[in-house]
Amino acid sequence: MAICAYCWNDRELCASHSIPDGFFKAISRRNNGKLITIPGGAGQVHLSQDSGKADLLCEACERLFNRRFDGPLVNAMKLWDRKIQQEGFSARIAFSPNQMAQSLASIFWRASVSGNDMYAHARVSMHDANALLSLVQGEEEAVLKLCSCSIRRLKDRRYKNHDGFTQDVVSQIIMPVSAHRLSWGRKKPTVYFGFSVVLQGFLCHLAIPRLPASKRNAPGFLHPKDRHLHAPPMHLLDYKPLMDSMVMGLAKHLDGQSTLKE
Ligand SMILES: [Zn+2]
Repeated sequence: MAICAYCWNDRELCASHSIPDGFFKAISRRNNGKLITIPGGAGQVHLSQDSGKADLLCEACERLFNRRFDGPLVNAMKLWDRKIQQEGFSARIAFSPNQMAQSLASIFWRASVSGNDMYAHARVSMHDANALLSLVQGEEEAVLKLCSCSIRRLKDRRYKNHDGFTQDVVSQIIMPVSAHRLSWGRKKPTVYFGFSVVLQGFLCHLAIPRLPASKRNAPGFLHPKDRHLHAPPMHLLDYKPLMDSMVMGLAKHLDGQSTLKE
């Protein structure tokens, strides 16, 4: 028995995901049940089945998170992904922006309290974790009053020269949650803190508290009244954390620190 991180009851805990299993399954199915893992620190590039589980939630809370957040989010992201593959980057899906932001907040909260190494960069102070938890527990309609959320679709503009990633490959990119304090220009860090994750080829950001209007009018930000979600494309080489990890993965591979076969 242990304490459930959400309801605080003494219960047997599940092996809980932070990034929903549904995102990993689609990828591992294509690779004989394996995921290619690039460790952030020391360690070899390797195939694994580790999708970042940790003993976190009791069964009742696990079911609640599945029903309210993970199920709808996985379905929406997969539909959005398919539409982009078919219609291009102008594709939109009908989905509640508040529900989208709250579902992402639930992933970020689980990542911030997960003990799994995959989420080592998602840890935040107790104060910040509680701010995130209150988004998860609060009314869905109020979520985007308390935070700002943006979603961009990654794309590889080298694709036209046939040496970049197709959208089919982009949709298999997952990058675990990372947390950071926001700062603008050279100014000191602000009161805002942010989380980011890449899943199903979408780069998702959440900032708490809600950003000033001048910031949240940038491309990709969800507007509480606009239920037709659009993910403007962003070149994946312009997203530095992803680039750094891919470059490091390649460097490790070339350096022989890899168990992948050619
Ligand atoms: Zn519970």
